[in-house]
Amino acid sequence: MRNCLAIVDFPSVKKFVFGTDRAREIRGASALLERLNVVDLPRSLEKEFEGRIRPVFFSGGAGLFTVESATPAELDAALERIDDKIHSASAGGLHLDWSVVELGTGAEAFAAANRRAHILLAGRKGIAKRPRPRERLGVFDECHSCSSPGVSVRWTEDGQEEWICGTCKAKRDNRREGRSWRDLAERLGLQGHPEEHRPDDFSWLAARSIRKGYAGLVYMDGDAMGRVIKSIAHPDHYRVFSKVVDESLRAAVGKVIGAYREKWRNRREDRLPADVLLLGGDDLVMVTTADLALPMAIGISAEFRSATASEFSAKGMKIEGLDQKGLTVSAGVAFFKDRQPFRVVLEQAESLLRSAKRARAEAKADEGFVDFADVSQSRFVALEDVRRIGQGIGSGTELTCWPRSASRAEAFLESARSVVEAGVTKGRINQLAAVAGRQLNAGFETRRLIARAKRAEQREALLRFFESNGMGENPPWAFEGRIRRTAIADLATLFPHLEANP
Ligand SMILES: [Zn+2]
Repeated sequence: MRNCLAIVDFPSVKKFVFGTDRAREIRGASALLERLNVVDLPRSLEKEFEGRIRPVFFSGGAGLFTVESATPAELDAALERIDDKIHSASAGGLHLDWSVVELGTGAEAFAAANRRAHILLAGRKGIAKRPRPRERLGVFDECHSCSSPGVSVRWTEDGQEEWICGTCKAKRDNRREGRSWRDLAERLGLQGHPEEHRPDDFSWLAARSIRKGYAGLVYMDGDAMGRVIKSIAHPDHYRVFSKVVDESLRAAVGKVIGAYREKWRNRREDRLPADVLLLGGDDLVMVTTADLALPMAIGISAEFRSATASEFSAKGMKIEGLDQKGLTVSAGVAFFKDRQPFRVVLEQAESLLRSAKRARAEAKADEGFVDFADVSQSRFVALEDVRRIGQGIGSGTELTCWPRSASRAEAFLESARSVVEAGVTKGRINQLAAVAGRQLNAGFETRRLIARAKRAEQREALLRFFESNGMGENPPWAFEGRIRRTAIADLATLFPHLEANP
């Protein structure tokens, strides 16, 4: 018998975790997924293959391990049994995909097997699993929470009675068990049950935004991870790599939330200024106030980079495609209203993340990128429509400078804050944005509007804003090849969410 390598994957993670809009179910689903992925799965494998299993990583909705002296058939059978357990623990909400390959010998064996296993797994995606019956009582009723047919439990809370399905119950049962949240509370030295420090729900956060009723969704993940991972030749390196990525992202999130918590202390808030909904591997989904969403995303991006850089150099890790500056994460950030369906907002944030990554790849940048949109007013569901119709993307004249590199995003935020601090009015910014939108005589009109600002410091702050965003020479435009862009509409969007001294 040879040694085998297997990768496992929870294919429907986002659908499971964000399948319903309520914070308590999202948290419970996330907690349950974490437990099954990080604790139960390796434990079950250890039981099946006593002493022969070598875990590489289990996190972020996936896992990788090797088994000594086993056949692929033996592994397949064991994973079937474990899949059954996962299925029943989540009442049919989660299942496992996997692929198993035999490990060859020689220095390249691990990397080759890893690549083959990934290809095999990708080929298996979307193939239906064998059907399994779901527990249900009232076959003709719909779950009050997720609307799936067939309810199985009566749930009473705060004097309200609901009939819900087993999956929603499994989520609710786990909502106070989140490992990532507990870890965050420990990092920040919080006393009492970690959940007591958690924002009540998204409305709680939205009520604490500078512009009330708006919250910010931050969706981040690692750049070019796949490429780096495929080049790792030794399982020990892979193990260290995964651990550094996972640990660095947690540290970055903890540091940034901790820093804003300090600022919040003056406001006498007893809860943290953000809710972490998904955190594992190189993946992060988080909700915060609208005004903190961009600064937090930029902060996490910077912290992650320096944390991975110092960890890898401390461990003497040299991996192809990895430089001394560390790994980067990109972000999609969306402002939304707390009453919007969360699933839709998440999808929009996900497409913002994708466009941030595309822009990063096109720019061949060595830092993370951020894309941002206010999706609260939009009746378009597809973000591409918001961009194409509302902002002229692809027309040669673009009314936005998003996506930006993390450092440019930071410079934009800083220059925007100076405009607010100088007392420039919202009306003036809207006039400037309107002028750029009309395009005709935009240069002349922009200069005229800047000159008409009352005080010298306001005129200076505006000029500085145009200069630091690349629009100094031909306001309101920044030219890049044959495309012209303006950041003034970005400022108008952000303006109501800024305060002078954050
Ligand atoms: Zn349900």
